[in-house]
Amino acid sequence: MTTHKEPLSSVLDTVGETPLVAVHTGPSSVDVYAKLESFNPGGSVKDRIGEYMLERMLERGDIDPGGTVIEPTAGNTGIGFAIAAKQLGLEAICVVPERFSREKQQLMRALGAEVVNTPTEAEIAGAVERAHELAAEIDNSVVPQQFSNPLNAEAHYETTGPEIYEALDGEVGAVVAGCGTAGTLMGIGRYAREQHPDTHVCAVEPEGSVYTRFFGAETDHEEYKTEGIGTSDPATNELFEPELVDDVLQVSDRAAQAELKRLAREEGHLVGSSAGAASAATQRVAERISDGQLSVPHPTVVTVFPDTSERYLSKGIYEAFAAWEG
Ligand code: PMP
Repeated sequence: MTTHKEPLSSVLDTVGETPLVAVHTGPSSVDVYAKLESFNPGGSVKDRIGEYMLERMLERGDIDPGGTVIEPTAGNTGIGFAIAAKQLGLEAICVVPERFSREKQQLMRALGAEVVNTPTEAEIAGAVERAHELAAEIDNSVVPQQFSNPLNAEAHYETTGPEIYEALDGEVGAVVAGCGTAGTLMGIGRYAREQHPDTHVCAVEPEGSVYTRFFGAETDHEEYKTEGIGTSDPATNELFEPELVDDVLQVSDRAAQAELKRLAREEGHLVGSSAGAASAATQRVAERISDGQLSVPHPTVVTVFPDTSERYLSKGIYEAFAAWEG
C-alpha cells in the first residue's frame, strides 16, 4: 500500500512511498514522525533494498538473469529479496539463524525462496559464512551481503531519505533509527546531513548490543530479544560510519516491548520490537531537544518503524514481558 493512485504493473512498484505519521508522545514542543515501513509489500523496510540492490546488481552484471541470490538475513531482508528476485527473474536462498521468527521463514518459502538455517549460537556471522560457502557451490550466484554492500545504504539515501524530507518540506531536526546492518540510518543520515549539516543523527540498539564499541566503549555483548537491530560483532557492520552518527542510544527489551504495546493500544500501530525501541529512543531525543540540551535545525524528530508485530505473534510479542522474553 502506498500513495500511488494509478494501476501498477508489478508488486515492485508498491515498494517505498510509505506513509509518514505523527507519533503522539513526548514533549508538545517537538514534533515526532515515524515512517511506517510495514506498508511495503513484504511488510518491512527491507523490501526497499530487495528491489534496489537486485536491480542495480543486474544492471552492473554482478548476476545474470536466471541466477541465484544468496543472502544471510534475520528474515525481513530474505522476504524483500525473495519478492524482488522472482519479479526480476532470479532465484533466492535465504540463510537464517534459527532463532529468528518462524513467520518470516514461512513467508520466504511462500515467496518461492529456499531457507537454509544456521545455528543460533553462530549468530549472523555464521549465516554470512554459510552464504558464501553456498555461493562457491552454485553457478551464477551472488551474495548481495547487506552488511557490507554500499547499495544497502544507497537504497535509503535514494528513497527513504528524500521521501522524509519531501513530506516535511525539509524541516527535519533529528533522525533516529535502529541499526541492524545500519543501512537505513546511514542512507537517511547521509541524506539528512547533506540537507543540513547540524541534523542530529542517532543510532538505536538494544541493551546487550555493542555498537557503542565504534566509539571506544568497552561494552559486553549480552543476549537480547529485540529483533532486527543490534550487533554482537561490529566487525560485521561494515556499513556503519561513526562520523555520520552523533549518538547511540540503548533501549532495554522491556522498554521496547512496553512502547510497542503502547503504540498499538494508544496509536493503532501494529509494529515489531525494533520499532518499539526506535520510538522509545525518539522520545528521549525529543525530550533533550525540548529541554534545550540538544540544538537542532528544526524541532522535528523522524524515526522509522521497520515492520509489523504480526510477524512476532507466535513469539508472544503482546504477552507479558516474561512470556515474550522467555
Ligand atoms: N528492524 C527490523 C525488524 C529489521 O529486520 C531490520 C533489519 N535487520 C532493522 C530494524 C534494521 O535495519 P538496518 O539493517 O537497515 O539497520
